[in-house]
Amino acid sequence: MSDTATAGADDLGIAAAIASSYLPTFPNVEEERQHRKERLAAAFRLFGRFGFDEGVAGHITARDPEHADHFWVNPFGMSFSHIRVSDLILVNDKGEVVEGSSAVNAAAFAIHSQVHAARPDVVAAAHAHSIYGKSWSTLGRLLDPLTQDACAFYEDHALFDDYTGVVLDLEEGKRIAHAIGDGKAVILRNHGLLTVGHSVDETAWWFITMERSCHAQLLAEAAGTPVLIDEDAARLTASQVGSHLAGSFSFQPLYAKITREQPDLLD
Ligand SMILES: [Zn+2]
Repeated sequence: MSDTATAGADDLGIAAAIASSYLPTFPNVEEERQHRKERLAAAFRLFGRFGFDEGVAGHITARDPEHADHFWVNPFGMSFSHIRVSDLILVNDKGEVVEGSSAVNAAAFAIHSQVHAARPDVVAAAHAHSIYGKSWSTLGRLLDPLTQDACAFYEDHALFDDYTGVVLDLEEGKRIAHAIGDGKAVILRNHGLLTVGHSVDETAWWFITMERSCHAQLLAEAAGTPVLIDEDAARLTASQVGSHLAGSFSFQPLYAKITREQPDLLD
């Protein structure tokens, strides 16, 4: 993790050099849109690879760079493992599909439209019914700073301490968005995880590593009484591995791997 730690450290020269190698700038909105859609399709393939799908549940959204109240999302009922750039659909602020012919998951609209509206800084949001995240969510607890990786969420995630059925109501989406506050993630009790970020890359990485941190804490607590990282060290580590830059950078090897192995995702 030393590279990730470097990316989050105070050495802005190093951080800027890393950032310039993979954080592109765009000459026009069309290229920025295409880039977001490519990262989004890759994130779905990775979620499929990691087994985060459960039937038709789960959604990752990317805000459109031109129409800020529209987002790109997966077609309802399509396997994460099959999604290509050309399969993504564009949904407007009324929940209507304005590009693409597939339907949108009503829960995706109810939750993500409200998260994107409440957090103008957020480019992407990810939610899935992954096994360790949903198992951990039943405990109604935040993650503890048990490992270096888990510190990415230290004082930066929340618990939505309620469950009343499938989220189809915009008001409930609003309450979830409110629970996230200005953090990077929320644990939806008896449901699963939701992460947000300033890029698709960062958002997908937070989801992947949060799921693994849930797994690690479940294993550790099943085996004994884990030792927590103390507050000061947890806070320092959070600044190193939990920054927007560190999150985006951590996604790069996964993006490289999935696009090499499954280049059709870019179609
Ligand atoms: Zn769900």
